[in-house]
Amino acid sequence: MLPLPLAGAYDYRVPPELALGVGDLVVVPLGQREIHGVVWDADPAAEGVAEGRLKPVLARLPVPAMTASLRRFIDWVAAYTLSPPGAVLRMALSSPGAFEPPSPQAGWVLAPPGNSQPRLTPERKRVLAAMVAGQAYAGGALAEAAQVSTGVLRGMAENGLLRPALLPRHQRFRAPDPEHPGPSLAGPQAAAAAALCERVAARRFGVTLLTGVTGSGKTEVYFDAVAEALRQGRQALVLLPEIALSAQWLDRFKARFGVAPALWHSELTSKTRRDTWRAVAEGEVQVLVGARSALFLPYPDLGLVVVDEEHETAFKQEEGVIYHARDMAVVRARFAEAACVLVSATPSLESLTNAETGRYARLDLPTRHGGATLPQVVPVDLRKTPPERGRFLAPPLVEAVTATLARGEQAMLFLNRRGYAPLTLCRACGHRMRCPNCTAWLVEHRAQRRLTCHHCGHVEPPPAACPECGAEHSLTAVGPGVERVQEEAAQLWPDARRLVMASDNIPGPAAAAAAAQAISAREVDLIIGTQIVAKGWHFPHLTLVGVVDADLGLAGGDLRAAERTVQLLHQVAGRAGRAESPGQVLLQSFSPEHPVMQALIGNDLDAFMAAEAAMRQPGHWPPFGRLAALIVSAEDERAAERVARDLGLAAPGGEGVQVLGPAPAPLALLRGRHRRRLLLKCRRDIAVQPLLREWLAKVEVPGNVRLQVDVDPVSFL
Ligand code: ADP
Ligand code: ZN
Repeated sequence: MLPLPLAGAYDYRVPPELALGVGDLVVVPLGQREIHGVVWDADPAAEGVAEGRLKPVLARLPVPAMTASLRRFIDWVAAYTLSPPGAVLRMALSSPGAFEPPSPQAGWVLAPPGNSQPRLTPERKRVLAAMVAGQAYAGGALAEAAQVSTGVLRGMAENGLLRPALLPRHQRFRAPDPEHPGPSLAGPQAAAAAALCERVAARRFGVTLLTGVTGSGKTEVYFDAVAEALRQGRQALVLLPEIALSAQWLDRFKARFGVAPALWHSELTSKTRRDTWRAVAEGEVQVLVGARSALFLPYPDLGLVVVDEEHETAFKQEEGVIYHARDMAVVRARFAEAACVLVSATPSLESLTNAETGRYARLDLPTRHGGATLPQVVPVDLRKTPPERGRFLAPPLVEAVTATLARGEQAMLFLNRRGYAPLTLCRACGHRMRCPNCTAWLVEHRAQRRLTCHHCGHVEPPPAACPECGAEHSLTAVGPGVERVQEEAAQLWPDARRLVMASDNIPGPAAAAAAAQAISAREVDLIIGTQIVAKGWHFPHLTLVGVVDADLGLAGGDLRAAERTVQLLHQVAGRAGRAESPGQVLLQSFSPEHPVMQALIGNDLDAFMAAEAAMRQPGHWPPFGRLAALIVSAEDERAAERVARDLGLAAPGGEGVQVLGPAPAPLALLRGRHRRRLLLKCRRDIAVQPLLREWLAKVEVPGNVRLQVDVDPVSFL
């Protein structure tokens, strides 16, 4: 199998001296090139190429063979997502530098005493004094320790005082210690931890949904399952939705296991990637924490897969091979005979339904740890108590923040919108500033004096006059982003120490860790942030959360808009009152009677999810039915239109099968490409893949048109 988008595996001749086994990584010729590949399981039905025409395998790579469980996983993901298996394999071979053994480094050892008596200068004496017999030293370090030049060492070697020797390979990843003392668990925590450990010790596949309110100790509980995997001598994988925002999580891991875990995400340097890939393959890495692509690493014996914040849409990969890492984590665990744990305070309806039907076990932690109470959620009705003209914070919220700050406690304002204003409008002619490449408004970032498209990155300076009617000083910012809320906060609370947390000013892990540190150390009074602040932060001094626009996520008519809004706002709310002082959450909304607001106010997510389920069930919407989206895109609008129309004409039908579209996508233009969408909806007992395969085979797609298949779509844009 080659890591290329080909239909299947290729045949090669195995030279007798190579003794290859299934799963071995090899080098093979392909056209004029030499490329890496994996010996795949032979399909007995496949017709072989005539022996004489086969090209030979050139070499076997010195890395452990790919396990059967990873090979089956790759085949499965390919079949499920309708991707070429080689395209999936490429994710598993993403670090080609790791396939060659790291070249051992040369250093020096003391030579055994010989007959000659070389001259001993003071420099040479210093070198000898710095060395212990039998131990190899790197030249640079030794020279520095003895304060000599490396030339002195070479001279000593020529005179028989030193000998070259290979340095031992240093351990790159220290082993986490499962017996390292952690917090002691009692009551429901202890019971849940014991149940999880039992499932890990069973060394069989099984999925557990671990739920519990924010701050109930879910992380500590699944850490115990990680410890059990270590005791079993198997590896544990923990998937987090956003590694860059997980500094506090990493600190807690270190506190629990004595060392930091190995990391896997897109921002690793290529050297770290290489070292990590190889250390995983060789079993040196025992616990790995990663983003979704960590599913494709070559664990020799995976015993536990944890998906934390399992409801997060960040687990869906939307480019290349389109897959949902939470769902694929379950499959990865199944092929590895491993336990799988899905964790969330606000589980997805998919996982809740699986727990309800008994496919998943469920464990629940009903209360916050240490007697902390859940915050009280109160609506602020924007119809009754609107903000002043041109302002966005209503009087009740302003008063609450003022009172909180006066008590010396921390407050947070949440608005899931980057920049200063989401829309720039001409008051004279009504013209709106839009992106030339996308169906999207340009977002003003006032600090940088820029209008930016959040879809394609297009940037332009704010024009002095309206580009449409030429009116001067007529362009107005409409609506708030976090920068504008910060501007209002600066006027209201000039003495409060404010911190804005959005991806624009928190670009990476170091900045996020520094921000969290500053908040924990009470160097900040007021936090103003986007969804970055909703993540699993533990801020013990934070007692007030104000949601500036609780209705924001409900627009757009997405299937899961309500579910996602509840999840996001509940997560944000969960940042408040995590220690002794109780917390309060204010929701600014134009419709406090909306079921989403009522679920948050009454803290009754179960009832909300039950109502969601009742709404989706009759129409066979997920999770009670299946969806697959086809996205057709092309720079040439007519080419996209033609393929979309052909797909519509060839659409499958029949009992329990429905095709919606083709229709222009909500993002009808994205990065200069015109987009059309079709949506296949099926009853749950009908598999979509065979339908899709048959359907796609009927339609010819020219080279200038891209057709993406999105099974179980999360985004409908
Ligand atoms: P969740 O993941 O459910 O939001 P956490 O695991 O983050 O909850 O726990 C919330 C806080 O309580 C953390 O600071 C954690 O270290 C602490 N905590 C939880 N359980 C215990 C325990 N049994 N002993 C001591 N501290 C605990
Ligand atoms: Zn754009």
